[in-house]
Amino acid sequence: MARDYFDGKELPEGLKAMGDYFAVVPDDNASWCECDRCREVLAISRQDKRGEGFFSNASSSYYIFNFVNQVAKEVRKTHPDKFVAALAYASYAYPPKSLKLEPNVSVAPCLHTCYGYDKKTFANDMALYNSWLADKGRRIYLWNYFHHPMEPAIIGKWNCFPCFMPDVISREVKRYHKDGVRGVFLCGIGTQLDYYLYMQTAFNVETDYKKLVSEFFSRYFGAASEPMKRFYYRISEINREEGVVGTTREVSWLRLGTEERMKELGGYVEKAVTLVTTDLERKRVDTWKKGVWEYMKTGRDQFRAK
Ligand SMILES: [Zn+2]
Repeated sequence: MARDYFDGKELPEGLKAMGDYFAVVPDDNASWCECDRCREVLAISRQDKRGEGFFSNASSSYYIFNFVNQVAKEVRKTHPDKFVAALAYASYAYPPKSLKLEPNVSVAPCLHTCYGYDKKTFANDMALYNSWLADKGRRIYLWNYFHHPMEPAIIGKWNCFPCFMPDVISREVKRYHKDGVRGVFLCGIGTQLDYYLYMQTAFNVETDYKKLVSEFFSRYFGAASEPMKRFYYRISEINREEGVVGTTREVSWLRLGTEERMKELGGYVEKAVTLVTTDLERKRVDTWKKGVWEYMKTGRDQFRAK
């Protein structure tokens, strides 16, 4: 199928390919084949304990990349300038041990950028990221998660304590640039300013996040910018201080959004409402008031009622 695609034939439905890249990525589950041969390869794979206990680990790395590699080997015989694109994800997040990957395999490690304040998860992601980088000359792309804490909240129909993380985004995009990462896919629910900061830093790696954040607040909220900026940074600081993101109701409303902090945060929004001088500023403050602050307040009220 990869050869057909590179020869210009139409891609069968369900497969992904673009330009010089043909993707070889399993469906999003770990229900692997149970035939004797696969069991044998999986047994080798599962001896690799890197990342054990984390979402991103190595238990299927040898199994998946052994397959990817065989496809790449074949494709290379007929199409030496084309690539087989793999993800490094979940149970196959770490590079396989005792397997030399073909040069025409490109890899996109999946990193939980949204866990930037969660030291343990982040350290595991950095370990797998760095082991991919150690494979010199390998074409590296990234899948960046921005799905938590919102995704579990949406699925579970509850409201979470949000997370903003301008310092993490700035630091990480600069790291990707330094490491020669060739491209990124942003997955999940990014917020207005954080995604803007991500893209601006990607366009110009010298971007100073504090300056950019200040510019955003003064140009967007005008007379109401100071308390809105405080509101934004305070939410970020709270997540950083606690070292967690609000992925469960309990973490959101017992650890992060405590009564005292909610009182403080509400104060900034109320202050901003009194400072607006134009209709546009009022509308913009109202967007954050409804979209962020009242969403949070409802989340805490519902948690307490429960
Ligand atoms: Zn099998």
